[in-house]
Amino acid sequence: MRLSELGEFGLIERIRKTTPKGPGVRIGIGDDAAWLECKNRSFLITSDLLIEGIHFDLRWTSFYELGYKTLAVNVSDIAAMGGRPTYLTISMGIPVNSSTKKVEDFFRGIRALGSQTGVTLVGGDTSAARLVFVSASLIGQAPFGAITRAGAKEGDDIYVTGTLGDAALGLEILKKNQKVKKWDRAFLISRHLFPSARLKAGLILAKERLARAMIDVSDGLLQDLGQLCKASKVGAVVWSEALPLSRAYHSSMSKNGPVHALCGGEDYELLFCLRSRDRARLEKVKKRLGVRITCIGKCVPSRHGIRVITSKGKSLPVPLMGYDHFKSKFPVLTS
Ligand code: ADP
Ligand code: MG
Repeated sequence: MRLSELGEFGLIERIRKTTPKGPGVRIGIGDDAAWLECKNRSFLITSDLLIEGIHFDLRWTSFYELGYKTLAVNVSDIAAMGGRPTYLTISMGIPVNSSTKKVEDFFRGIRALGSQTGVTLVGGDTSAARLVFVSASLIGQAPFGAITRAGAKEGDDIYVTGTLGDAALGLEILKKNQKVKKWDRAFLISRHLFPSARLKAGLILAKERLARAMIDVSDGLLQDLGQLCKASKVGAVVWSEALPLSRAYHSSMSKNGPVHALCGGEDYELLFCLRSRDRARLEKVKKRLGVRITCIGKCVPSRHGIRVITSKGKSLPVPLMGYDHFKSKFPVLTS
């Protein structure tokens, strides 16, 4: 069987099934980060790979932005476990004729977010390569225990931080050189180049025992909600009119409606599930999260699958897909 038939998630499932669960592995393959225990202390670890032409395009991504984003996407995975990032290794391949300034810029980008998030670079590896690629591994702590994708139950409310679809619109503007109002363009493109990593929100949701399942939205809301629902063995109803959209999204969405918010990648917002009886407690900590949160739907029995409905109860015919590296026919720049 070819990878294009198996798909990225089918491949990961095969690797998972054939991998023995080693000692100290609390959560292994299949979540945003692994959760490991060693001498009664636990830690998180996550990796992400960014390849030129697949995940980023150097025509519109500076090395500074690439460095920032490399760390941001990893911090986002630690945030999705309710953790705090600590140590980072970076392995990179880069063409020999590149200027050293570019590499310096890359690490300036890493330091810029590293100093904001308490992350220290402690090692890595470097090689000459035909294309630029970067592989980052980030270690973190789980001071309040890790929140996995698997804890949601029927009846839970589904929340998301920030706004959805901005990064996907920003990328489209860059790729198609679309005409959009100056400030909207700047906002949407910055959401693509400088992803939010909702670290503070993730930590508070874990500390207050509010989120009982969580994932970061990297491959599109429906794709990642699908992963959470699969792990938790529930279905979900999403209310299309409740989706949090930015002002810039609203003013440039006329043609596509909420499709970028539902299926676009690289939001790096947190999607989490909450017991309905914890609503009042969530209201109390809302201001401290440092980001807007919106209830977008409810968990339902798994046999109902995932549906997107309007306020009139009509189901939207949205394809249940986000990005799959091996199945997508047209390479889309996403992580
Ligand atoms: P995320 O989007 O949160 O980074 P992915 O969809 O990339 O998550 O990966 C899902 C899970 O599969 C994660 O637990 C990840 O560590 C694991 N995984 C992905 N690729 C591999 C691989 N080549 N070998 C082992 N585990 C993998
Ligand atoms: Mg993730």
